Amino acid sequence: MTEYAKTALILDGKATAKASEKALAKRVAAIKQKSGSTPILATILVGDDPASATYVRMKGNACQRIGMESIRVAMSEDTTTEELLAKIDELNQNPDVHGILLQHPVPDQIDERACFDRIALAKDVDGVTCLGFGRMSMGEHAYGSATPKGIMHLLAAYDVELSGKHAVVVGRSAILGKPMAMMLLNANCTVTICHSKTRDLAQHVMQADIIVGAVGVPELIKTSWIKSGAVVVDAGFHPTESGGVGDVNLARVDELARAYTPVPGGVGPMTINTLIRQTVEAAERAVGIS
Ligand code: NAP
Repeated sequence: MTEYAKTALILDGKATAKASEKALAKRVAAIKQKSGSTPILATILVGDDPASATYVRMKGNACQRIGMESIRVAMSEDTTTEELLAKIDELNQNPDVHGILLQHPVPDQIDERACFDRIALAKDVDGVTCLGFGRMSMGEHAYGSATPKGIMHLLAAYDVELSGKHAVVVGRSAILGKPMAMMLLNANCTVTICHSKTRDLAQHVMQADIIVGAVGVPELIKTSWIKSGAVVVDAGFHPTESGGVGDVNLARVDELARAYTPVPGGVGPMTINTLIRQTVEAAERAVGIS
């Protein structure tokens, strides 16, 4: 394989998210000035999974940094689907709440899909409803699923050309792989979606101009599969003693790729950034700014 001559561009999600927060803070101030109200994100955490609790806390902190408020709803591990649906109904009806985040995953006894789909479209700032997915796929307005939408923002921030490129998305989950594939398709990529039943994954990934690792298996995608000059997006994060690794083995990515997202500091910060940006947008719509 011919190696790409340049040192790869780092798609710095941390810096991009930080820069975007300044603009978001101004938009929040404008909402407050026009309506006297503060945008509010409601976060629902069911159970006591420590990783989920950390994510929810980080999302609340991001709201604070841009002058927004967040309401934290904590529900017990034994919550039923009906109880969670009732809580979502309450938040849907609360005019002070502009966005609702139900932290994934919820305990096994809960019908997560039913609960996601109960979130009102106008408040679905994490982009988890079937209706929102369908509308986004058809090019209609909806808040996209936060992680793939954050990836699209990051690629745009670095002017990564997408039109006509072959994107290979490894993973087809409802919150990441599938919406990612649709967003790339809407941006005129030719898209291949791979999953656990895909035969000869390596051969697919080797064709990619843009690789998206959205698989949840540490370093499943090997360095030797990266085509010279490809753009590598790694959504995975798996803690290790030396920090963490992603879904892609990034060992020689610097020599091979045109651009890549670091792990950590690539995709993760953009997910939270997208969530708060979409909440600001929902609040703007509610007060008639956009
Ligand atoms: P998920 O729901 O577990 O889905 C994983 C997907 O990968 C599935 O579609 C699965 O295929 C596929 N897969 C699993 N093993 C495979 C294999 N050996 N070969 C090919 N495909 C395989 O995971 P997810 O929620 O989409 O998350 C994926 C990754 O992104 C994880 O590392 C997660 O931590 C990360 N993530 C990051 C953020 C962030 O904000 N940074 C947010 C969400 C997720 P099947 O459909 O056939 O089972």
